[in-house]
Amino acid sequence: MFIEIEIYKDPWMDNGIENFYGILKDINSCEAKITDTSLKFEITNTEKFVKELAKKIINEKRQSLIFEEKDKKTSVAKEVKKDHLLLQEEKKIGGKVAFKEDIYKSEYTQEIISNIFSIGDGENICVLCERRFDKAVKELQQASYPLATKIRSLSGVRSYKDGFTLSLKEYYGNYCSICYLLGILLWSDEALIYRTFPGEKSFLFLPIFESLEELHAFKNYCRLSGIFGNGRYSNIRVGKESEDLEMTPGKFSTLLCFYEKLVDDSSDGFIAYNWSIMQIPFGPVKNIKMDSLNITKGMVGIIKKIKSYSVRIYSDICKKIYFFSESKKGIDWDLTKELQEKLAESFLKDNFRTFTKCLLPKGGHYIVFSSELIKNLDKLIFVWRCERMGISKENLDTIKSVGNIIARVSKNNMSLLYKLDKVRREDELWSVLREVARKIPGMEEKDLKMIKPSALDDLIQLVKDIIVTNKDIWKEVRDLLVIYSSMFLSINKMSKGGNEK
Ligand SMILES: [Zn+2]
Repeated sequence: MFIEIEIYKDPWMDNGIENFYGILKDINSCEAKITDTSLKFEITNTEKFVKELAKKIINEKRQSLIFEEKDKKTSVAKEVKKDHLLLQEEKKIGGKVAFKEDIYKSEYTQEIISNIFSIGDGENICVLCERRFDKAVKELQQASYPLATKIRSLSGVRSYKDGFTLSLKEYYGNYCSICYLLGILLWSDEALIYRTFPGEKSFLFLPIFESLEELHAFKNYCRLSGIFGNGRYSNIRVGKESEDLEMTPGKFSTLLCFYEKLVDDSSDGFIAYNWSIMQIPFGPVKNIKMDSLNITKGMVGIIKKIKSYSVRIYSDICKKIYFFSESKKGIDWDLTKELQEKLAESFLKDNFRTFTKCLLPKGGHYIVFSSELIKNLDKLIFVWRCERMGISKENLDTIKSVGNIIARVSKNNMSLLYKLDKVRREDELWSVLREVARKIPGMEEKDLKMIKPSALDDLIQLVKDIIVTNKDIWKEVRDLLVIYSSMFLSINKMSKGGNEK
């Protein structure tokens, strides 16, 4: 039996094809080949094929759907279905998850596979792959195709039953058994990143490639890289030797964390830059949201470069930044998580403006800057900003010196710092710097000893020199000043009026 599946150009189905190809590769009674646009496979012995595939599904793939934990009351080990799956569950049998889909019940798996591969040509045309078939194994449902509502050919015929559930009656049956199989098995793909926030939502990340062959090369690289574990809420391992999993605070931090674990010198050519991110809510009504996201090669290059200096942007910077609350006299964890996520987002989107704003003190909250964090942040700023903007190490030191002055003059009144942050034109930057200069003579003796007033003149000269070739350099200087002023201000506040350089 020779079967050819052509590309769907659909994040779910492309990944479904790739995942299925990964299974077929290990099956002896079948020859499979993936190309840019299609998967072709030939079953050489149907009886053997059914047995081999069933064994693979039950013994290996099913493990990716469940998580084993101890029952809180009885301490007996039991299986739990992972929360991001849109597969429905029946009552557990002997602590084992019973999926509603019979293909995942060992006693039915072979029968279902037999049915799937005994479908002949017929009157019906599959709404997804346009294959002709005589009989459907299953109707089109979220369990095998979560994006049912996104099919273009279905738009206009959608109607809402009960105001909630989508009714696709006319097309329910026009769904071929092969599409069902690819879709229902995709949940078991061990190369997809997921992250669940219990009670809220889950994210599932689907990589997108133009070519199926490249998609396979990337996912296979991920599978072999050892970065994926098998947790209930996350599958990115903290380290290759550790079974612990990263508990990233959101969507972007998860992706950033994934990249920094994956990329190194051997990962060239295996990197995904485009993603479809599925957001799956908790609760009985599952309206799936899909976002697409492109991460530029440049940003992945920065992750890689900074990793070569032994700094990881998520693990050593975003994850190590905490928001201290003056009123709580401690870390504000909700705001901290929000901030860590926002930093990861602004980095991945190459938005330095937003990144800087995150570090501003606000409403009685300060970032806690450890010396380790300052060192790592310095390296990031140098690679991400200075190298690209033509700012030398010495120039950066001048900017830092001015940041220190701004922090000292802002210690009792931060309006100048906020004014700096709001600078929208070059002349506004000059005006803020003049205001800083005017405040220097009124500074306290102990602060005066800690600053280098000539840095202001040096900075003005520096901007004037660079602005000839780069007319936007003042924006960069503004952002760098915001970061370093905020950093020095927080350090001084945290050390209570402090004695920092
Ligand atoms: Zn189909």
